[in-house]
Amino acid sequence: MKSIQLTERQAKIVEMVKRSGPITSEQIAERLKVRRATLRPDLAILTMSGILDARPRVGYFYSGKSSRTLVAEEIRRLRVKDLKSVPIVVRENTSIYDAVVTMFIENVGTLFVVGEGGILEGVISRKDMLKAALGQSDIKHMPVTVMMTRMPNIITTGLDESVYMAAKKLIEHEVDALPVVRPVTNEKGEEKLEVIGRITKTNITKLFVELGEGD
Ligand code: ADP
Repeated sequence: MKSIQLTERQAKIVEMVKRSGPITSEQIAERLKVRRATLRPDLAILTMSGILDARPRVGYFYSGKSSRTLVAEEIRRLRVKDLKSVPIVVRENTSIYDAVVTMFIENVGTLFVVGEGGILEGVISRKDMLKAALGQSDIKHMPVTVMMTRMPNIITTGLDESVYMAAKKLIEHEVDALPVVRPVTNEKGEEKLEVIGRITKTNITKLFVELGEGD
């Protein structure tokens, strides 16, 4: 822990726990010849910063991990299913005009285009729609399929993928949203992807803020 300046007593506690952990707060207080209540703020700081870990009925032990490592562990531990939002979808025959309206109503930047049974067919983004609007085409009669990015060129994620991997995909592929999908087999025996959620840069930013707040 380079970033946190320990008081003399806190440093003593860390040394003691390193040497004799797991050790209870009573034992620490006894050895330092102070009351348990006096130690409480020190122990709180040391556990919150991740230097010490506390287990009920076991006591304090040295974790030795920097808070950066702990945050990294948390991000890798979290799964897409813990963070995902509901997907906003339109059918393939939806007009670009109606898709724009849906974007405003649902307050999202990306729509997933689905066929029967919620099967993923495409993704249409703000810029895809702007492109259509800039042309001379009649966007009330132009279906989203004309402008969308199609399967199999869609970057997806799954419920059990780590949030870290999903965020990496957003960055690497320079997209704002990933459909959360699960594989299904249709009646023709073909492997398809059913849309069951979405992960966006907003989800990731919210998580970042939560981690920043230490929740
Ligand atoms: P915008 O274009 O509104 O900035 P994006 O950066 O997400 O939004 O989209 C850029 C392009 O990538 C668009 O053409 C869009 O159709 C496509 N796209 C968006 N999301 C995905 C995805 N998950 N997989 C593949 N292509 C995508």
